Amino acid sequence: MPLTLSTELLELRTRHPFIIARGGQSEYRTVMVKITDDDGHEGWGEAAATRFYGETLDTVQAALPRYADVLGDDPQQLEAIEARLEAALGRNAAARVAVSVALHDLVAKRAGLSLCRYWGLDPAAAPQSTFTIGMDTAEMVRTKVLEASDYPVLKIKLGGDRDRELLETIRSVTDRELRVDANCGWTGPQAVAMLPVLEEFGVTLLEQPVAPHDLEGFRRIRRHARIPVIADESCVTARDIPALVGAVDGINIKLAKCGSLREALRMIAVARTHGMMVMVGCMIESSLGITAAAHFTPLVDVVDLDGAALLSQDPFVGATIDGGQVRIPDGAGLGVSRR
Ligand code: MG
Repeated sequence: MPLTLSTELLELRTRHPFIIARGGQSEYRTVMVKITDDDGHEGWGEAAATRFYGETLDTVQAALPRYADVLGDDPQQLEAIEARLEAALGRNAAARVAVSVALHDLVAKRAGLSLCRYWGLDPAAAPQSTFTIGMDTAEMVRTKVLEASDYPVLKIKLGGDRDRELLETIRSVTDRELRVDANCGWTGPQAVAMLPVLEEFGVTLLEQPVAPHDLEGFRRIRRHARIPVIADESCVTARDIPALVGAVDGINIKLAKCGSLREALRMIAVARTHGMMVMVGCMIESSLGITAAAHFTPLVDVVDLDGAALLSQDPFVGATIDGGQVRIPDGAGLGVSRR
């Protein structure tokens, strides 16, 4: 009997509007994917589409039936199924990764192991996660920083016209470690000019200062920077990594960009081959999507998996980042249940 795929719409809402250099919103809709085998095992995944990478709720809902057609009847054939998914419909990373995650959840459940242990990893080796403070008024930024008092490392969204003011506001209420994500908001020269400012405020890491294809900008920044510079929007799949060698210190993997759990593991292998740091990030998604990424965090250096922690209500219970520490559930598969 072929594997069957069904979907469910998830309505998510962030506690505060989540604003980055490209804009923001507070309501998000994602799609839960469920894949069932003959024995009644069920695997789950989540598709969190972002327009920046060419996907919307509509494209996800159009893509999933195409993927359902090529699942076949043996979920254990992960490599072959993922090749068929990519051949059926190329990019569509958020939709495709939901299927990939559901298959991995299913096979790890059949094996009676958490996905992390199925891969041979130690869940206790998961690093701490940052918590993100989006752009906002000075008063709201202070409120958000105080609300996030449990998290020892904060990630700040810059790349607007009030960057210094935001850093001053945050430093007026906390001396915690700060990392910065400019989401392509600066030019190379602007980013170089910002480096002493970041240093003045004790920022320890800089993510995606410039536009995705501005590798010359990255090289210029890296020549001046004393903190690691990480590529996010510039690094979608493993194929992007060779061109980034020498231009950045590391890459940020997101499942909704790379389209498959197996691709995420390949990205880690390729980055390590080149001596790069590895970070894992997320979209605004529920604990279902976040938990899938949490299972491979024992392999990475930097974690930013706050997508579900930013929600006012989370439909699932799974991996948590309470107190900043990533905790991977030990139940079979993803170890995710409905709240
Ligand atoms: Mg980023």
